[in-house]
Amino acid sequence: MKTHRVQPGQAVHLDRIDPQDASGFDGGKADGLKKLEKLTARLDELQELLYADHTRAMLIVLQGMDTAGKDGTIRRVFSGVNPEGVRVASFRVPSALESDHDFLWRAHQQVPARGEMVLFNRSHYEDVLITRVHGLIQRPVWERRYREINEFERSLTEEGTTLLKFFLHISRAEQKLRLKERLDDPTKHWKFRESDVEERQRWTAYMEAYEEALTRTSTPWAPWYLVPSNRKWYRDLFVSQQIVNALEGLRMHYPPLPREFRTTRVR
Ligand code: AMP
Ligand code: MG
Repeated sequence: MKTHRVQPGQAVHLDRIDPQDASGFDGGKADGLKKLEKLTARLDELQELLYADHTRAMLIVLQGMDTAGKDGTIRRVFSGVNPEGVRVASFRVPSALESDHDFLWRAHQQVPARGEMVLFNRSHYEDVLITRVHGLIQRPVWERRYREINEFERSLTEEGTTLLKFFLHISRAEQKLRLKERLDDPTKHWKFRESDVEERQRWTAYMEAYEEALTRTSTPWAPWYLVPSNRKWYRDLFVSQQIVNALEGLRMHYPPLPREFRTTRVR
C-alpha cells in the first residue's frame, strides 16, 4: 500500500492530495473489505500480544474536519478487537479545570500505559487548530506549541510508546454531502451540531492551520499519515494496515512460563 506518510520537513499541501484516491490498494471496494476483515482479526491477535508482552504501548491520534470519519474509523477498524484491549479518549472543548492547566495536561493523562492501546479522537492538536482558527491564540503561541508537541511525543516514544497520527482528509464537497445526510437521515440527526455548519465556513482557515501543523509536527518518531478519506473503505483499510504493520514491527513475544511453574501439574 502507498505510505501517505509525511516525511519530516516535507511541506504539506492538502490541495495536492486527492481525498478520493484509492490507488494505494490494487483492488476495489469488495476486495478491500475482505482484506479489512482479515486485518481486524489480525489486529485482535496483536492487541492481545501487546498486552501480554507488556513492554510497549500504542497511541493512535485521529484528526480531521467534522464528518471526516474519526468515529467511523474507530468503529470499523477496531470492530474485531477485544473491548478490554483498547481505550478511546475523546477531546472536546476544554473544561474549566483543563483550561487552567497547560494544553498538554489532559492529553498526558490519557496516554496509554504499558500493554495498552489508546485512540485519541481529536487530541492535543486541537490546541493549534481550532484555537488558531478562532483567533484565541497568535503565531508565537502556536509556534511554541509545535515544539512542545514534538518534545512531548518524543518523550512518549522514548519511553516505549509507538505513535501513529492519521489526518483523515475529505473534500469540502464530500463534507457537504455528509452534513446533508445528518440533516436528512433520522438516524443521523443526533450527530448534527450547529457548529458543524459554522466551522465549515472556515474551511480555508482550517486547511491552512492543518497544513502548517502537519508540516511542523511530522517527525521521525511520530509521523503523520494523510489518509484519503472520501472513500470510507479505503480509509479504514489504510488505517488498519498501518496499525498492523506498526505492531508487527515491534517484535513482541508472549512471556515464557516462569521457572517456578515449569514443574507445576494441574490435578
Ligand atoms: P466532536 O469531536 O464532534 O465531539 O466535537 C468536539 C468539539 O470540541 C470540536 O468542535 C473541537 O474542535 C472542540 N475542541 C476540542 N479540543 C478543543 C480545544 N483544545 N479547544 C477548543 N475546542 C476544542
Ligand atoms: Mg463533530
